[in-house]
Amino acid sequence: MSNRVVVVGSLNQDLVVNLDRMPNSGETVFGNSLERHAGGKGLNQAVAAAHLGAPVTMVGSISSDSAGDFLQRVVEDESIDATGISRVDGLAGTAVIEVERSGANRIIVIPGANATVNADQVRAALEAIPDIAVVLTQGEVPADAVTAAMEVGRARGARTILNPSPVQDYPDELYALVDIAIPNEHEIELITGMKTSTSVDATAAARKLAERGVGTVIVTRGAHGSVWATLTRSGSAGAFTVRPVDTVAAGDAFCGVIAASLAEGRSLSEALRWGSAAGALAATREGAVPSLPTREEVEELVNIDD
Ligand code: ADP
Repeated sequence: MSNRVVVVGSLNQDLVVNLDRMPNSGETVFGNSLERHAGGKGLNQAVAAAHLGAPVTMVGSISSDSAGDFLQRVVEDESIDATGISRVDGLAGTAVIEVERSGANRIIVIPGANATVNADQVRAALEAIPDIAVVLTQGEVPADAVTAAMEVGRARGARTILNPSPVQDYPDELYALVDIAIPNEHEIELITGMKTSTSVDATAAARKLAERGVGTVIVTRGAHGSVWATLTRSGSAGAFTVRPVDTVAAGDAFCGVIAASLAEGRSLSEALRWGSAAGALAATREGAVPSLPTREEVEELVNIDD
């Protein structure tokens, strides 16, 4: 049986500027440092799945300039199959992240090459892959690319997973192609208009999205863990207790590891436990890709009370 995870999604260069305080309009301030990291929800989730040992193919677009070369190298260094990545003219997908000494941040995202990902490209890339267990996608590529990913995944008998982040206005026809949706609390509130302050509320919101056609909806709740609902059943997965340092990419670690665990043949409840461990570990380290845990680290936490 195939255990390949295909991630259709964004790849960004994250430019992180550390500064004492943000400039006011018209003001110039000195920055203390500038770092470049690989990021983008698609790439983060692909790396999280690859760290679990799953064969991963990334489908997306990167620019043909040196920023694109940087992203291509990261993909290859993580042993992710890059044959589904197109090189295109124009700007690189870029996030400019300004972080004040106080920890407050401001982020500007330029979609760049990610905005060029389209349905034909996704269909052609997926059709060229002989074995697919799971197709995973997010809201940082255009909706027609997301729809094509879920359509072809469903037609090929793969599990289809949508992380609706950032939230887009998707029609119910798209949700009907999704086996598992993984929004966080803020995202499920935007999608359903329902509150999620308690686990009971979050479960009701999850069910609401299931009623729009998604098989299983998992709502992540940070340090409170996650809840899930289908049309007829619901449950929860506790969070592991860690000392959080930076929760960036916790959700991406969770999604990528759930995809890889399901691709290995684990049950949804086992996959939830593995995903929760990966999310907790990602919260203990700074950054996106650099915070994603190894399989050994996830396995150790999963087995902690055995
Ligand atoms: P997002 O990054 O999309 O907002 P969450 O913050 O909800 O996603 O995190 C996803 C999952 O990662 C959570 O459901 C939980 O299992 C785990 N996680 C995140 N933050 C923490 C934390 N502070 N302590 C323990 N687990 C966490």
